[in-house]
Amino acid sequence: VADLVAEAARTRPDTLALIDTATEVTRTWSEIELAVRATALRLREAGVVPGDRVAVRLPTSSAFVVAFYAALRAGAIAVPLNPYDPEPATILDHSGARVVLTARPVETADVPVTSVEPVLDATASPGGSAGDLAPGRGGEDLAALLYTSGTTGSPRGVMLSHRALLANVTQLRSVTPSPVEPSDRVFVAVPMHHVYALGCGLLTATAAGATVVTAPRFEVRTALSDCLYHRVTVVLGVPGMYVEMAARPADELGEHLSTVRLLLSGAAPLRPKVLADIRAATGLPVFEGYGLTEASPVVTSTLVTGYAKPGSVGRPLPGVEVALVDSDGSAGGAAPDPDDPDDTFDDADGTGLVAVRGANLFSGYWPDGAHGPDANGWFRTGDVGYVDTDGDLHLVDRAGDLVLVNGFNVYPHEVEGVICELPQVREVAVVGVLDERSGEAVKAVIVPEPGAALSEQQVIDHCAARLAGYKVPKVVTFADVLPYSPTGKVRRVGLRDVEVLRQD
Ligand code: ATP
Repeated sequence: VADLVAEAARTRPDTLALIDTATEVTRTWSEIELAVRATALRLREAGVVPGDRVAVRLPTSSAFVVAFYAALRAGAIAVPLNPYDPEPATILDHSGARVVLTARPVETADVPVTSVEPVLDATASPGGSAGDLAPGRGGEDLAALLYTSGTTGSPRGVMLSHRALLANVTQLRSVTPSPVEPSDRVFVAVPMHHVYALGCGLLTATAAGATVVTAPRFEVRTALSDCLYHRVTVVLGVPGMYVEMAARPADELGEHLSTVRLLLSGAAPLRPKVLADIRAATGLPVFEGYGLTEASPVVTSTLVTGYAKPGSVGRPLPGVEVALVDSDGSAGGAAPDPDDPDDTFDDADGTGLVAVRGANLFSGYWPDGAHGPDANGWFRTGDVGYVDTDGDLHLVDRAGDLVLVNGFNVYPHEVEGVICELPQVREVAVVGVLDERSGEAVKAVIVPEPGAALSEQQVIDHCAARLAGYKVPKVVTFADVLPYSPTGKVRRVGLRDVEVLRQD
């Protein structure tokens, strides 16, 4: 993977690799290559040998880019950390990282760790010999360990090999319209420690020798100005960003995104209404992708058909297979087999658990590679979905998000879709809360459009006219914002907890 930088420096040395909007640092690919090499030498001086884990604790910035590639150039396995997590000790300890690339030294009582600062301006640093920086790692060797929060709460390190990360870059770049062309300027304001920005943003742009425009966080007005000022052509977004953009005046949005050719969304569901609002203001569809860390990350995208179909996450990338398996799991004691036609599409309602196969899949969880793809290469995600008559995938929900009312499954996504039909609703999240009579009950948390008048009863009446009784929310609350994770997902767990506390 580190060779992507060397290749970009060779073929497009004077192209801008990076525009860091926060620091106004700009670098060409040849400058990045020098900085990567100088930083890798620092790592070697700090005692890093091939196969060591090197943590990267930096926001989305030029420093992150240099640090990530330098860890790989030194032959190490990069472990990107959330830079805003005040407790890095758990992951440092779990991954066994002894060195961390960071701008602010990490001090933890629990884990001995050496902080190394990435070199950003390599022309100012003594070159050193690059001779010992040819670790010859690739293929099945691990390139990165990415931690997801998962559902259990304990850290899960997803082992991504050079083979897996490069496969997804190739799969993504073989789609038309291509998500990143060499002439593109890709705006990345999502955290780079997450696989979405890392794979679809950084690695794909490097492979194309394109330009990455970074922002450490998303602030809608600043982001829109940056897009216009830096002539951004591709926006790598998450649904929350498009919700905020759609709330801006249409002419302002159209003007600020006038240089953009492609808007991309991933990580969480994009509401059809947001897609329609953005298209009305800019003339651009938002292409939605579905991915997960274990797939490096992209599995499907609406780019594959070239048509942004509302509510759908599109079709598998070339080289990736998707199958739906019985979401009851091991009915009859046997694990569902995606290769066995009897095991597919057999949930009564036409939905199934999404299983994935492809060269982009991970090698299991750190440290022993447990729970990786099965003997036939399939990985069962925790996502439930269905395929429509055109062959496009729709995600219904994560298996763990289902609400169980009197033993009936309620898919939050379906209820959210119905509530979103109300013009007064900007955003909504549906969760299950404890209920003495039915076990769980449906709760909706709604962010209204500014100035809109909407009552709890109106929401309930609207749902009752369209949904079976057990799916109708029993509790409706209003909020100014929904709680988003740094990776763009609504924190449903938090919404549930609040209600449980209130009931106590
Ligand atoms: P974290 O909280 O650290 O992000 P995670 O367990 O959510 O951890 P990720 O790999 O970031 O791990 O998220 C993958 C999940 O995100 C998928 O399994 C799916 O549930 C959800 N997801 C991704 N893209 C979409 C999409 N377009 N629509 C709906 N859900 C999506």
